Amino acid sequence: MSGVAPRTPRELLSERGELDPDVIAVRVGNEVVDLLTPIDPGASFTVVRRGDPPALDVIRHSTSHVMAQAVQRLFPGTQVTIGPAIENGFYYDFDRPDGNFTDQDLLKIEKEMRRIIAQDLPFHRKLMTREEAKRLFDGMGEKYKLELIDAIPEGEEISIYWQGKEDKPDTQWLDLCSGPHVPSTKHLGVVKLTSVAGAYWRGDERNPMLQRIYGTAFATQAELDAHLKMLEEARARDHRKLGKELELFMFHEWAPAMPFFLPRGAFVYNRLVDFVRELYTEYGYQEVVSPQIFDRRLFETSGHLPNYRENIYFPATPDTLDHLSEVMGSLPRLHAEKADISKALDQLREMTRRIEAVAQKPMNCPGHCLIFGQRRRSYRELPWRVADFGRLHRFERGGVVHGLTRVRSFSQDDAHIFCTPEQVKSEIVSFNRLLFEVYHAFGFTDLSIKLALRPENRVGSDEQWEFAENTLATVLRDSGIEFETLPGEGAIYGPKIEFHVKDAIGRSWQLGTIQMDPVLPDRFGLEFVGQDGGSHRPVMLHRAILGSLERFFGIYTEHVAGKFPVWLAPEQAVLVTVSERQNEYARRVQADLRARGLRIALDDGPDKLGAKIRNARLSRVPYIAVVGDKEVETSAVAPKTSDGTDLGAMPAQAFAERLLAEAKPPRLSKTQ
Ligand SMILES: [Zn+2]
Ligand SMILES: [Zn+2]
Repeated sequence: MSGVAPRTPRELLSERGELDPDVIAVRVGNEVVDLLTPIDPGASFTVVRRGDPPALDVIRHSTSHVMAQAVQRLFPGTQVTIGPAIENGFYYDFDRPDGNFTDQDLLKIEKEMRRIIAQDLPFHRKLMTREEAKRLFDGMGEKYKLELIDAIPEGEEISIYWQGKEDKPDTQWLDLCSGPHVPSTKHLGVVKLTSVAGAYWRGDERNPMLQRIYGTAFATQAELDAHLKMLEEARARDHRKLGKELELFMFHEWAPAMPFFLPRGAFVYNRLVDFVRELYTEYGYQEVVSPQIFDRRLFETSGHLPNYRENIYFPATPDTLDHLSEVMGSLPRLHAEKADISKALDQLREMTRRIEAVAQKPMNCPGHCLIFGQRRRSYRELPWRVADFGRLHRFERGGVVHGLTRVRSFSQDDAHIFCTPEQVKSEIVSFNRLLFEVYHAFGFTDLSIKLALRPENRVGSDEQWEFAENTLATVLRDSGIEFETLPGEGAIYGPKIEFHVKDAIGRSWQLGTIQMDPVLPDRFGLEFVGQDGGSHRPVMLHRAILGSLERFFGIYTEHVAGKFPVWLAPEQAVLVTVSERQNEYARRVQADLRARGLRIALDDGPDKLGAKIRNARLSRVPYIAVVGDKEVETSAVAPKTSDGTDLGAMPAQAFAERLLAEAKPPRLSKTQ
């Protein structure tokens, strides 16, 4: 600090004559600060105008305040909770006592929001003590806000924001919030409320179910229209819908959030693994198979206990405990004495904690440390790249699981590289090449790369962090890779590079990561004998390219809209006969092509040709090959691609050659 009292950006800009009407915030370092929040007057900052990319989050979050204002005007008695900006929009969670919001309600709320926006209501900021804030929200009957106030750490500022005109109380609305917000509602853009869904308070299914209204806001109508079109496309591609239609996977309530891959899905899943496995050979990885269940001492040594405890599958999960407490609560004998029940529950929890001697592994890293440490290692063995497709289990709350993208049972294309500090750079370069190769095969060409730096809460010395962050940044720079830094978002033990891809409809997904970890080798006391004959500690790199294969399956299914390419498709072509006259010939062709390793289905049923083609299209098979009398005469087939392009009749063997050529994943090195 320069020692001068903080001043608001509005004051500073106005003095400089730079307070243009389209300025909605400023940027100080990496932080976007609104015009109302005092900053160090000596700090350098840049203005954020309405059309600038960082403005969008400020607009969206401010729009969520306006939505909450509209909701409380229209539905008195509704309590507010939180309303953040999210990718592509915003939401606000409400507790409405008298029923659920309908689509009709959303239209009404939207209309009210437009009125509020048109009223050009300025935003105001006010600091409060904890007691003042609690009195205020208590008086308003906002019990969730009281909980939020209690959760604010001691010493942190407590701010409320209100929008409205000073002289018109009926225009005013306030919220506990740390900002940033636009100067006035007139800066908000075009608004659209998109959906409403149940959401548990704080994502925990033991808490009350709230109603989350999702919306989006853009600076222009054209941008909003493009976004709505994307949403429609996303609904059509939803992997949960396609998973059912294409019989790829299923779920059952007796194994919640743990997918079953059905034969067609399992084929694709295993092909993904095979593909990565083939590249592993080329890139010098070795694969191991490691245990599923470990003694709790493993997780004590690794440090995952107690920090990661909630997500580890012990014999008793938080689910089991909740269930037990329900059972105990319903016992009539115990009903009389509430205090006894809670005492019994405490004892039960203590008991289960003691029997928690073993657990399902949530990740492979600690097990790999055991393998590394089982005998003396020489520097000549390094870098040692050890891959593991082992099944992992992580307990996730029922409120957060989603299709295949957030599950409790999964495996990763996971590997760890044990190496010397000097080898880290070349290992990352080689990993990047492997990763680009893999993404190329899946048609993910729009990549963005982020370097997540030291978080507040971390282990390891500053020198270790300095070394790790510099190494990663230097490798990226030397490789000519553009990247963005994410201060504070590194793992607890080290910085990481994140690889984000854009899918076919423009959504961004984080897939791969490589993380540098000096901590685990330390905790497991890993060593290797160096060239100098002395003992040295290796560095450990955690890396994955696709990440969770389950999650990748979901993302990729949506990316290709269920149309898997020939190299991945469970059936590469389906033969359809015009009438039963061609059935015998078609069966022969199918057997021939199968003998050449091709996956060929046959529809020789009694349906009309049109119906057979329609069915084949619905199952999104890459090729539909029609067989009529003419094809029988000339030993041919007449294939169409899945988008309907007619390839004309060709000898069955020529079709086989075409399929075989496409049956290999596209390679980067061969196409460039
Ligand atoms: Zn806010
Ligand atoms: Zn790991």
